[in-house]
Amino acid sequence: MKRFNLVILATGGTIAGRAVSAGDNIGYTAAQVDIDHLLAALPGGTGGWPVITEQLAQVDSKDMSFAVWAKLADRVNHFLARGDVQGIVITHGTDTLEETAYFLQAVCRPAKPVVLTCAMRPATAWAPDGPQNIRDALAVACHEGAHGVVAVCAGTVHSAFDVQKVHTYRLDAFSSGDAGPIGYVEEGQVRLLRNWPVAQEGKAQAAIENIANWPRVEIIMSYAGASAAIVRALVAQGVQGLVAAATGNGTLHHALEAGLIEAQAAGVKVVRCTRCANGRVLPRAGDIFADSEGLTPVKARIALMLELSTCDIPRKTLVLP
Ligand code: ASP
Repeated sequence: MKRFNLVILATGGTIAGRAVSAGDNIGYTAAQVDIDHLLAALPGGTGGWPVITEQLAQVDSKDMSFAVWAKLADRVNHFLARGDVQGIVITHGTDTLEETAYFLQAVCRPAKPVVLTCAMRPATAWAPDGPQNIRDALAVACHEGAHGVVAVCAGTVHSAFDVQKVHTYRLDAFSSGDAGPIGYVEEGQVRLLRNWPVAQEGKAQAAIENIANWPRVEIIMSYAGASAAIVRALVAQGVQGLVAAATGNGTLHHALEAGLIEAQAAGVKVVRCTRCANGRVLPRAGDIFADSEGLTPVKARIALMLELSTCDIPRKTLVLP
């Protein structure tokens, strides 16, 4: 098989983190080591694959910004269009990895693999998990037939639609919930369990061009003693969309619900999802608010921003069939 290039776009995160002591897995600074140094420390290198690297950003992903997303979407599109590129790996912090993955899938829908990877321990740890995750991500990026945006962590391949960070400390910090993972990486081989995310014509260019004008969409949670106060304050500030992280099957505290009804009447688009880690809101006839069609609150927010922005990507088409 002819070996086309793999591209690695680096954005920072714990995978590029540095601690003062090798025994410290939590008191480190994320986004310190550049991608070429990370690769130089990779036992066995990139497995013989020609690799093009770009240090696109150097951020702790808790601080991920729309500006970095626009840059990422632009470079991903650029490399996807190159005939000599087999696939793309993106190194990223774990905190907002699922948001970036969903955003890229929504706007790029690549016919080649775009593989986000990360680490829970800094690069300076006694036993860092980043090197294995990078090797696994490269294995997925050169797997024949792979396409779409996926995340690879701790030997597991997750779809951009389903991936969610579910643990604060363990190396296997991600889950695909009810959907289950796409597959596993075992000794450099991908064992596929289900389909890759859909590849279609994307709208990356429109999203990039409009990113500065993305509508303001905020997430509100329903809980014991909730009120309409935050909703009213946001409406007064001109919020355009609200995602309600509701209890259970999309239920809302009556006081919060009253505020959301007011907001909707005032022209704010309201979408309901569940704050439960698993399951989705099952719609019922006569529901007052649209539901997120299975998306978690953070992903529903991105979908709603895209839907409301002039790049015109309807939420419905963002969800896997
Ligand atoms: N705060 C880090 C980040 O998201 C956490 C990590 O990468 O594990 O960049």
